[in-house]
Amino acid sequence: MNDCLFCKIIKGEIPSNKVYEDDNVFAFLDINPINPGHVLVAPKNHCENMLDCSEDDLKAMITVVPRIAKAVMKAFDYPAFNLGVNNGSQANQLVPHLHFHIMPRCDGDGHELFKGKASNSEELSEVAEKIKELL
Ligand code: AMP
Ligand code: ZN
Repeated sequence: MNDCLFCKIIKGEIPSNKVYEDDNVFAFLDINPINPGHVLVAPKNHCENMLDCSEDDLKAMITVVPRIAKAVMKAFDYPAFNLGVNNGSQANQLVPHLHFHIMPRCDGDGHELFKGKASNSEELSEVAEKIKELL
């Protein structure tokens, strides 16, 4: 994947603010942070999103999230963080190389992610049944 932005970052061909690296994972600061310390955690092997990523790489990614999140929170005294991943352009994925967003949060920061609207119990139960049939 020569033209992939994050592959280039991982290979060091494009500069980034790396915060963590191991055999499978590369983590660096988002250049457009929702709050200071917003980190992107990406697998070194190119994959587009969670559906074409190997289980080993997914495990490696999720394993390091708490460690990086703890460091981010400690560094700036954040009380909370969101973990986010956009899979597909319709879900606002701009860079087609899988990455988890670690987004530190604090009181009054004005970010309202995942704002939903109330459903009713009938609808919820129908939806749950449809999903369970396919698992
Ligand atoms: P997504 O919408 O989940 O694909 O998020 C892509 C993220 O990558 C955005 O939050 C961008 O701010 C971030 N981004 C884009 N280019 C760079 C870059 N060169 N270095 C660091 N982060 C980047
Ligand atoms: Zn890539």
